Amino acid sequence: MVWRALAAMLMATAPVLASPPPRPKLVVAIAVDQFSAGLFDQYRGRFTGGLKTLQAGVVFPSGYQGHAATETCPGHSTLLTGRHPSANGIVANQWYDRTLGRQVYCVEDPAHPVPGRDGAPRGPGKMLASTLGEWMKEANPASRVFAVAGKDRAAITMAGHDPDGVFWWDDERGFNTYLTAGSTAVERLAPVAAFNAALIAKWTTAPPVWRPAGRGCPASGADTFGTLNIAHSIPPAGNTGAWNKPVNLRYLRGSPMLDAVTLDLAQSLIDRFRLGRGAAPDLLAVSLSATDYVGHRYGSEGPEACDNLAHLDRALGVFLGRLAALKVPVVVVLTADHGVVDAAERVAARGVPAQRLAGDIVRQVASAVQTELKLAYLPLQGDAQQITITAPGDRDPATDARVEAAAIRLLKVRPEVFQVFTAAEITAAVPRPGVPVDEQTLAERFHQSFMAGRSGDIVVAYRPYVTGSYPPTFAPPAAYGDTVASHGSPWNYDRRVPMIFWWPGASGFEQPLPVETVDIAPTLAKLFRVATPPLDGRCLDLDGTAAGDSCR
Ligand code: ZN
Repeated sequence: MVWRALAAMLMATAPVLASPPPRPKLVVAIAVDQFSAGLFDQYRGRFTGGLKTLQAGVVFPSGYQGHAATETCPGHSTLLTGRHPSANGIVANQWYDRTLGRQVYCVEDPAHPVPGRDGAPRGPGKMLASTLGEWMKEANPASRVFAVAGKDRAAITMAGHDPDGVFWWDDERGFNTYLTAGSTAVERLAPVAAFNAALIAKWTTAPPVWRPAGRGCPASGADTFGTLNIAHSIPPAGNTGAWNKPVNLRYLRGSPMLDAVTLDLAQSLIDRFRLGRGAAPDLLAVSLSATDYVGHRYGSEGPEACDNLAHLDRALGVFLGRLAALKVPVVVVLTADHGVVDAAERVAARGVPAQRLAGDIVRQVASAVQTELKLAYLPLQGDAQQITITAPGDRDPATDARVEAAAIRLLKVRPEVFQVFTAAEITAAVPRPGVPVDEQTLAERFHQSFMAGRSGDIVVAYRPYVTGSYPPTFAPPAAYGDTVASHGSPWNYDRRVPMIFWWPGASGFEQPLPVETVDIAPTLAKLFRVATPPLDGRCLDLDGTAAGDSCR
């Protein structure tokens, strides 16, 4: 009797055997912008919708964006290329182009005009690696590849070259796209035209309002830190009414409604094109941008971020339910493009010393170097992390060397600066084989972000928890600033993101050891049984048994 009870007890506590992933007819790759592993850890026990469902699959809570420039464009570029930015060319959101003499945007692409956006062409022209969608089409031209996102750079870098459709939210036009040679706006926008029209009609009569999701997030509050006042409320001030006016649509970005409409469009594309039910396997990439906008604008630890995640959880639950109802083999992967750290002021108020950059550090150092070396021009350009040495006309190597030495000396004495590297030092810091991604040196992390000709001549690592500067008059949301909280550093809180693989009926496992986002593309390619070019990532075995092997 006792033995039988004990046996029953053991049966009850025995781990459920893992179910292997199916050979998919449809893969849905979801990026939640700025969904750090820290946020996943913090909230994962509170999810009741899609983010709970997904946890029945294979959970890697320590996925890593291996590179250092933890921004949106590089982060999305690793997901379906299987390559680090050092190989796929997307080294940052923007970089200084010496030939053009200005900063260029990562998806700026003169070959692809955007309807209604003269002078702002967008496309994959700067992406130097191919994507999963391209490998699928090469293996089977009947495969369809679509991407939909809140941001152009997210949709374009996940879709790769020559997708069947790539759509992103445009504040003034609804979902927009870019044109390919010989195509018209009417043709390229056909899959979203009715969707956009219905949305605008709906909002004209009933403007969407951000209502609390009712999941125990604090309803309001104000955190005041010196000149920074984050007045919390849901809906945030200014985020009500007049949604039919373009000027007010900007508030949509910093609200859960952005992800809701993005998922609705994803569903609409699945229905319209019968994705997963065609002659060949299909790929749908979805990037949900609201978490990023909300985190930047109100802080990643504010009530708005908490409530936004509750809305996301609910919306994903509906979306996954519809995917399961398709009754076709579908595999979902959910991850993020980078992490985040909350506003330095609130971080510091909550037990961890942190600081904010005092103004535009590159301009300050550039001015000081100009004065010291008596130059007629500002000799440095770039963002705070990647600085390019510039000169009008022909460059003089001796002057460049003096500029570099002076800039490095001035940067090193700044209290916010942790370490400064030259391009030569970063180029030499090839990651040591076999060293886990979370144990890499800072120089190794920057190496995986670095491409000569695009990356800066001087690379700066700031101290942990340093956040970017904000305008002196900053008062969100009136200033519409995106700099209360930030990311972009080489530190692991910005690199670590959840990576979850799920399919209907999945009973997976959790692997807490570090893996990489560049592993996603080779893992999915194996499930689809399509060949890949040489990649930086490796296939992750998802079936959880010694017998089976989803990587074979
Ligand atoms: Zn991002």
